[in-house]
Amino acid sequence: MTFGDRTTYLICSLTSPTLEAMRADLSAAVSRGATAVECRLDYLRDIPAADSIGRLLGNLPVPVIATFRPAREGGHYTGDEKRRLDVLRQAARLPRVMVDLEMDVPLECWPSPDKVILSHHNFQQRPADLDQILRRLAATPAAVHKIAFAAAGPEDALAALDLLRAASKPTLALAMGEAGILSRVLAKKFGAFGTFCAMSKGRETAPGQLTVNDMLHLYNWDSIDAHTAVYGVIGCPIAHSMSPAVHNAALAEAGLNAVYLPLRIEKGPEPFNRFMDELLRRPWLDVRGLSVTIPHKENALAYVQPPHCDDLARKIGAINTITLSREGTPMTLRGDNTDYAAAIDALCDGMQIRREDLAGRSAAVLGAGGVARAIVAGLTRYRAKVTVFNRTQARAESLAREFECEAAPLDEVAGVEDEIIINCTSLGMHPRQDDSPLLALSPATRVVFDTIYNPLETRLLRQARRAGCLTVSGLEMFVNQAAAQFELWTRQPAPRDVMRQTILQRLG
Ligand code: NAP
Repeated sequence: MTFGDRTTYLICSLTSPTLEAMRADLSAAVSRGATAVECRLDYLRDIPAADSIGRLLGNLPVPVIATFRPAREGGHYTGDEKRRLDVLRQAARLPRVMVDLEMDVPLECWPSPDKVILSHHNFQQRPADLDQILRRLAATPAAVHKIAFAAAGPEDALAALDLLRAASKPTLALAMGEAGILSRVLAKKFGAFGTFCAMSKGRETAPGQLTVNDMLHLYNWDSIDAHTAVYGVIGCPIAHSMSPAVHNAALAEAGLNAVYLPLRIEKGPEPFNRFMDELLRRPWLDVRGLSVTIPHKENALAYVQPPHCDDLARKIGAINTITLSREGTPMTLRGDNTDYAAAIDALCDGMQIRREDLAGRSAAVLGAGGVARAIVAGLTRYRAKVTVFNRTQARAESLAREFECEAAPLDEVAGVEDEIIINCTSLGMHPRQDDSPLLALSPATRVVFDTIYNPLETRLLRQARRAGCLTVSGLEMFVNQAAAQFELWTRQPAPRDVMRQTILQRLG
């Protein structure tokens, strides 16, 4: 038996310390939108008497999984095994209650295997013998199988989806950790029995668990089905990224059946290449587009290969957008850099000029990292006169040489007389809002553009506003680059206002 219908359950794990608190949390989880709950009995301060379990789990508005996890399987219970199993046997007698048992519990003498979720956990890594574990689970009379393992990278989350596709019975297959989020959200696309989520941040029962709220409102859980297209952002770290919120809001606004996920991939070309290889082996995932952020923009260009990237992206040496096409085998990839056009357009819109009108204007670019590189490429393409100022002078010189402009150390920037100043350093970014790369502005400076968007008005922009300069914030650049990605992938106009609003909401 399962719970009776064939939906993928959004299961909220409850970690309350008392029976009363768990009953209250249960109602709260249902009102937040969970369609099933998992009562983690091993989190209770006092072990419930077998006959008190009916008071907790009887007459509930949603199906319930009773889990009483022993310490040997990553739970909190360290007491007597017989007592633990007695409580679970009692729970299994109740209608709409299933129990989660570990693989080492013999099912032969279990009274109702049709109410059992038989589970296997590995908190260290993806087991090498996943297929065998699935076969062993399949050979038991348990109604549902569960396999959960730690993910080193999102390719491990893809392996969890492989299990769902291979499963002959209702299955839960979850990759734990930040890199495993894909397996939690796409569980519904691949018909899993369910996915686990937390009541709130800090109450997760496994690493990488999302909250019920994020599942429903950030990842639009209710609209995910077998036909949902997949997008994502590759980076490390990635938890702070606003791109999932911005793109999911935009996809929903446009009425597209699609979801956008964070994909944490460790630094270096090997992890990046490994994930991309695994992704391309699975066209059934229906991945249509990827944003790429620090530290993988150069790795992405190398993977997609320059002939399949736009001209300026090749010169910049980095891409932030990959578009995948399933027309033809193997899938084809295209790389774009939407950063430089996003920045140039934010600047030109702020100044109310065309890109071509940048010709001959003088611009001081502060910084020589990835963003500075894209902006210097854009400015010099439109023939602005650029000087690159950087803390590490050698980097400024190397960038200036490549794009045929001037270079200077950052400590010589005070009082520069350029018409336009663009900050591409991280000075002034949250949480160090009191920093500024420039203490005094020359009267010759008319426009100051800070690429930082958190905070929206940096100390530099405040100085510029007080000095009567035109100011441009990093928000417009952020919206422009995300909108350009959306348009490349979907060939539809991006809902820019929704994107901007989402960022403003996230920034509070
Ligand atoms: P990056 O490649 O790491 O470059 C960082 C730059 O900041 C380098 O030039 C570095 O100088 C300089 N820097 C860092 N700490 C400094 C300090 N304490 N004093 C002086 N200079 C310092 O980073 P990035 O990707 O180019 O990002 C740079 C900025 O762009 C970030 O602040 C971010 O907020 C902003 N950004 C905006 C958007 C948007 O859409 N609006 C998108 C991405 C990034 P050295 O070479 O000497 O290390």
